[in-house]
Amino acid sequence: MAKLSIGIIGLPNAGKSTLFQALTSIAVPAESYPFCTIEPNLGVVPVPDERLGRLAELVDAAKVTPAVVEFVDIAGLVEGASHGEGLGNRFLQHIREVDAIAHVVRLFSDDTVARVSEGDAARDLELVETELALADLELVEAHAERVTRKARSGEREARDSIDLIRRVLGRLERGQPVRREPLSDEERRLLSGLNLLTLKPQMYVPNVGEDFWIEPQADFETLRAALLEKDPDAMLLPVSARLEAELAELSPAERSEYLEAIGAEGAGLARLIRAGYGLLQLITFFSFNENELRAWTIREGTLAPQAAGTVHTDFEKHFIRAETIGFEEFERHGSLKSARDAGALRFEGKDYIVRDGDVLWFRTGA
Ligand code: GDP
Repeated sequence: MAKLSIGIIGLPNAGKSTLFQALTSIAVPAESYPFCTIEPNLGVVPVPDERLGRLAELVDAAKVTPAVVEFVDIAGLVEGASHGEGLGNRFLQHIREVDAIAHVVRLFSDDTVARVSEGDAARDLELVETELALADLELVEAHAERVTRKARSGEREARDSIDLIRRVLGRLERGQPVRREPLSDEERRLLSGLNLLTLKPQMYVPNVGEDFWIEPQADFETLRAALLEKDPDAMLLPVSARLEAELAELSPAERSEYLEAIGAEGAGLARLIRAGYGLLQLITFFSFNENELRAWTIREGTLAPQAAGTVHTDFEKHFIRAETIGFEEFERHGSLKSARDAGALRFEGKDYIVRDGDVLWFRTGA
């Protein structure tokens, strides 16, 4: 997989654009990534990875290219979006296209910024979840009709999926995300064509006050308790959009000094990107020659030929074998020559499952 895209959603005035701007200030030029589109609401952000920096010190490559995550600022969610209010359907369509969702929930207090809903953060969150569930409900209802018709005419896959569709409908009718329904791999495959919004991996991003890391916020604990009660696996990642936007203006040295002073555990943006990796079970492998040292993103469990395919589509077809060494071991040897002289490079075939941190060279046929 060449690209990972994360859609930033939430109610108006939750701080989505502020967060997005902070993210784009660390963006890389999209030209290096032909699979990324250039649009004002898209930001291509490098995946923070210390290993890449270390490799850059050890190998001679003219250019260093990090793995990237694409963030999409998806504006337009208001109550009734599933019925076409606000930007309505166009907005929902944008969410269908992303791999994962970062749901920003307002938890900063500022009287000069209007609140669009009457309740607390838990209610805000609920409102957004409901819109997504309603949109999915509409889609699955239409799908259920088609499946029932096909099942009647004896189509086997349709008959097999009727029970699944009923379960999914049940969840959605209760206003719950399909993500919470236990699904087998086969059931996931049956649903994949629907691109359900509420089946996408999601992280919750409470946009907390700037002094959150100095002073605990009671409303954060309330939100967390409410969320975890419903979904014990929910991923919660507090961020201060305003603080991130301010930090983005500082030099890296000033930034770490500041973060240390307030006791925050590393930049929020880096955590957000790494969390996206975790949500989607992604790992990184590296490749290099004299022209370029590069980090690549693949799913956990990817075989060597498919990994080769992310570098170049032809590589997958003509894959013969891979030569590889793990990052730590490479670092221990200090250079490709030493590693090779010590016999530390391994040859792996078509069944090799690539591991996080592998440095890979692919041997391909004509
Ligand atoms: P969006 O509608 O979700 O994209 O929200 P924006 O990012 O445009 O933010 C709406 C308003 O809230 C703007 O005036 C921001 O400056 C302000 N804002 C966003 N994040 C924060 C924050 O963390 N703290 C404070 N005090 N204001 C914020």
